[in-house]
Amino acid sequence: MAETETRPSNFIRQIIDKDLAEGVHESVHTRFPPEPNGYLHIGHAKSICLNFGLAQDYQGQCNLRFDDTNPEKENIDYVNSIKDDVHWLGFEWDGEVRYSSDYFDQLHGYAVELIEKGLAYVDFSTQDAMREMRGTLKEPGKPSPYRDTPVQVNLEHFAKMTAGEYQEGHCVLRAKIDMTSPFMCMRDPVIYRIKFAHHHQTGDKWCVYPMYDFTHCISDAIENITHSLCTLEFQDNRRLYDWVLDNISIPCHPRQYEFSRLNLEYTVLSKRKLIQLVEEKHVEGWDDPRMPTIAGLRRRGYTPASIREFCKRIGVTKMDNMVEMGMLEACIRDDLNQNAARAMAVLDPVKVVIENYPADKVEMLSAPNHPSDESMGSRELPFSREILIEREDFREEANKKFKRLVLGKEVRLRNAYFIKAERVEKDAEGNITTIYVTYDPDTLGKDPADGRKAKGVIHWVSAAHGVPAEIRLYDRLFRVPNPAAEENFLDAINPESLTIVQGVVEPSLVNATPGYALQFERLGYFCKDKKITDRLVFDRTVGLRDTWAKIDGQDD
Ligand code: ATP
Ligand code: MG
Repeated sequence: MAETETRPSNFIRQIIDKDLAEGVHESVHTRFPPEPNGYLHIGHAKSICLNFGLAQDYQGQCNLRFDDTNPEKENIDYVNSIKDDVHWLGFEWDGEVRYSSDYFDQLHGYAVELIEKGLAYVDFSTQDAMREMRGTLKEPGKPSPYRDTPVQVNLEHFAKMTAGEYQEGHCVLRAKIDMTSPFMCMRDPVIYRIKFAHHHQTGDKWCVYPMYDFTHCISDAIENITHSLCTLEFQDNRRLYDWVLDNISIPCHPRQYEFSRLNLEYTVLSKRKLIQLVEEKHVEGWDDPRMPTIAGLRRRGYTPASIREFCKRIGVTKMDNMVEMGMLEACIRDDLNQNAARAMAVLDPVKVVIENYPADKVEMLSAPNHPSDESMGSRELPFSREILIEREDFREEANKKFKRLVLGKEVRLRNAYFIKAERVEKDAEGNITTIYVTYDPDTLGKDPADGRKAKGVIHWVSAAHGVPAEIRLYDRLFRVPNPAAEENFLDAINPESLTIVQGVVEPSLVNATPGYALQFERLGYFCKDKKITDRLVFDRTVGLRDTWAKIDGQDD
């Protein structure tokens, strides 16, 4: 798709421009720091496009660093899926993949340095006592009885923690900062805790693990990151970020800048909630096409370009907001309208018999793959006496607004002839089972010589050649725009988020490439499912029009 050529500026670019102009930095080095405790979602895509996009535009570098300090919640499958998704989005990280765990030795050394400087202490208080002493936003905290333990004793305790001589939860290492700070994160935050957990990278080497706030800033500094970009909830933590780097002997001091996280209507973008959807089987997995994960969007037929374009359109600010789903859909629709091949499929078929067409004849009609892009070529469509059309494309009687097939009237079959409906056959319940029509052989690729006009154009599939296919129609996963605000977001799941119908597709679609969306004419964009391979399944990527805008579709 034609991505907007220049990226819009934003406050982060202005900071970078200034830093480069003033010689604060010679180049830009960013990082994307996911925790491998889930799959990436569209919110992460915002952060990826920002970090990798800045590196690209300023000819700098961007690292991929796994923030892996919670071994119990992390695993190698998540690591692999994240690498795969970043690549799929079209980005390449600088050098090898990095892990915070690569720095566990250094981090441990800096913790010892803080203890030696009298800036960290081992606290044996219970969790409840620590919570009690922490105070509230209105009340200052109280010092722990362990706050003034001598340096030498702290060093011994920390060595014992590290050696596995204390049980999990028995004690923690805390930074000694300010128990009266208005920023809760500065009230002697925990920087190391005991966890007898196997780590996906470091195995059983460690039984103490550093906390995120301590790890992140040091990892940034070790990697010589220039601009450390994170979401707004870390605004207060910036004090701690700077405090740690100011108090250890590390030469580099990256600057942290915060931007607002992406919120998207009718879905949730919290890993905890997404994990719950997967584990409790409310969806079929991380890559369920209804999920806001990159894996789900991929499976559904979204393209990397459409997601990058979305991230460009939403921009980067410090304002919290909720983005409409229609905005994401507009991006994929624009992309596919331009780039997707056209094909025909019928989702709710009714049989049409063309009475004046020879029973044993099959014609191969040529159909362009794209209405305006000839370079996409054409394909052959078999045409025969019996075809299938969409049940809702026929009415026995209708007013002028109904631009489809009506008894006694003519309509054009896409890529084929004019047909005129003559009569219908019904079953005992009055449902139409067959529509009998006649066709005009002089209307292939041209209008009738006498100037007759068709009421409209409808799609079709040859009954004998069409291939049965399962079609999965997706709707929003939640019934309300902000499910996260509900008491229990699971209660807001839309029970009709997936409708499965048995349709018929033109034969060329058997060879469609899984994961690449096509336009089913007049129906929307669909892609062959890449996971289900024992039968032909198509997933609806997006409809042709914005159905979220609540402007009811007209009659055509
Ligand atoms: P969660 O809180 O749901 O577990 P997270 O923010 O902790 O998600 P990480 O893996 O730590 O997930 O995120 C990696 C990076 O992606 C971080 O820099 C984070 O700020 C950013 N990010 C996560 N969610 C969003 C979002 N919705 N919009 C923009 N950036 C996001
Ligand atoms: Mg995080």
